Amino acid sequence: MRLQRLAWLLSSCLLFLGACRKPEAAAELSMQPPVVLISIDTLRSDHLPAYGYNEVSTPAIDALAADGIVFQRAFSQVPLTLPSHASIMTGLLPAHDGVRDNAGFVLDPKTPTIASILKAQGYATGAAVSAYVLRASSNVGTGFDLYDDQIPFIEGAPTGNLARPGTETVAIMKRWIGEHASVPFFAFVHLFEPHAPYEPTYDAEIAKADTEVGELIASLRSSGRYDDALIILLSDHGEGLGQHGEQEHGVLLYREALQVPLIVKLPRSERKGTRVAEAVQLVDVLPTIAALTGAPAAETDGHSLAGAIGAHPIFSETLYPRIHLGWSELRSVIDYPHHLIDGPKPELYDLSRDSFETQDLRETDRRAYAKLRSVAATAPAAVVTAPRIDPEEAKKLAALGYVSAQPGTAHSDLNPREHLPDLQKLKEVTLLMRQREFADAAKSMEDLLARNPGWSDLRNNLGFAYEQLGDLPAAERTYREAIRTTPELAPDFALLLAGVLVARGALDDAEAHARLALRTNPNGAHEVLARVALARNDLGTALQEAELGHADFLAAQVLLGRRDPERALAVLQRIYDTSQKQKTQLPRGFFIVTGDTFMALGRTAEARQAFERAVALHPDDRVARERLQRLEK
Ligand SMILES: [Zn+2]
Repeated sequence: MRLQRLAWLLSSCLLFLGACRKPEAAAELSMQPPVVLISIDTLRSDHLPAYGYNEVSTPAIDALAADGIVFQRAFSQVPLTLPSHASIMTGLLPAHDGVRDNAGFVLDPKTPTIASILKAQGYATGAAVSAYVLRASSNVGTGFDLYDDQIPFIEGAPTGNLARPGTETVAIMKRWIGEHASVPFFAFVHLFEPHAPYEPTYDAEIAKADTEVGELIASLRSSGRYDDALIILLSDHGEGLGQHGEQEHGVLLYREALQVPLIVKLPRSERKGTRVAEAVQLVDVLPTIAALTGAPAAETDGHSLAGAIGAHPIFSETLYPRIHLGWSELRSVIDYPHHLIDGPKPELYDLSRDSFETQDLRETDRRAYAKLRSVAATAPAAVVTAPRIDPEEAKKLAALGYVSAQPGTAHSDLNPREHLPDLQKLKEVTLLMRQREFADAAKSMEDLLARNPGWSDLRNNLGFAYEQLGDLPAAERTYREAIRTTPELAPDFALLLAGVLVARGALDDAEAHARLALRTNPNGAHEVLARVALARNDLGTALQEAELGHADFLAAQVLLGRRDPERALAVLQRIYDTSQKQKTQLPRGFFIVTGDTFMALGRTAEARQAFERAVALHPDDRVARERLQRLEK
């Protein structure tokens, strides 16, 4: 390390001397390596050929692994996208950076991040992400000059699934790298393949992500920056794939949810083809980058992987079961080879002999169990701290009449693994919802809620089912209950409630609830505020809010209201193309507005086609039928 630092010191002298003679050459002489961080969401290391898997082909990742160091045992701090990325960016455990769930938590923008540290060293910093949960308002992008999170908000879609294809994200970063190739730069690229839904399989999504990685690396090569670049490829967490009953991630803390790929290619491919067997963790990424770029190391929970690697306990957690399902949270500590999963019924595994964690050693290896327990006791914030609720939001909630118990005090002893069958029942409900059997779905969900009263995600779906059934009072009741029982998610439920209140014509109440979500979900909040303004016939405000919320569909309606059907049609076309490309649902009422736009343009035949599609999609939609009947006359 000392040698490397000396090299940088030397290079800054060269930089200075060079600047006197030939200023434009200064950047070229700089030894600050470009840093490229690639995060492939939900990627299990044991589904990559670089880690011994052979059911999928990943030539780009293989090539990077051949040029770099493969960390064979790297683990995530938390199996959730936003908290895990916050830990990567800050080098801090979730208990220290305060980001403990995808919903309701944002990073304190004063916390040093990889981007802010490198920016202070003179780096250009650019990022593009592919999932809505990593939106800029989460502050996970603190320190980036460019943080591209343009992912359309689709009303009614679960926010966890809002994403854009990696090809679009990579295209943005290729352009950005091209523009910054001659200066020290830090590029962060987040790809959402292979996160569910899989198209068509988990492995196929991995192959897709690999193609995107290949595109990015090719552009680094063509701009001449591959060789001297520090490239880090990782994932934020794994995926259950049914191994212990969980299909996706977030509820359980077994190895498959925590172990991730971590590949580090050093400048000039030093130490290429090395494999490291020591257990390491995602909070090590920031100290590693700091060490390799000569940046001052911030205080973190990790350790640089650039030199000798010591043994450190790895702490992980998930509060998801408590916040979303009303079950107990889980914590885990890996003191390799032992893995303790701590909850209502602690379990102990030996990862070196039982990597699929089928033999619980808690009763048989009392000595290891006692040791891991004592290590676990040193974890920060072993006791759950109350989730942070913004005091302003708490005040607004109180003003709206929500008097609740203290947030975060609803402890539960329900063991997540034992209650997974109820999660399985939710799968059946989801299927009913997809088949538009909303009445049956609502009945099943009311039953599940009776057994799991803290299951906030269920109220999310139940409210949606009632909305689809046209039972707005029941939807309103469901969302209001959710705000009361899960105050940490109050802003999200307030936004859903605001949507119902607009439909019920309670515009002032709708506006007050939408404003509650401005901090945690600005796009969604602006979208609802635009609808409130539209209902008030305040077109100026509506257009402004629609633009703030990237709410194209609303903008199209406003443009139509402003007698500008040409521009409205262009926006509608863009929405249609995007939904075709991304295979996402069109917003409700899309074909009615499209028909109205064609009518305003005097293109009656196309208007008729649009109304016919509206009726075909929603045969019970009165408005669509009336439009068609009017045309028939
Ligand atoms: Zn993720």
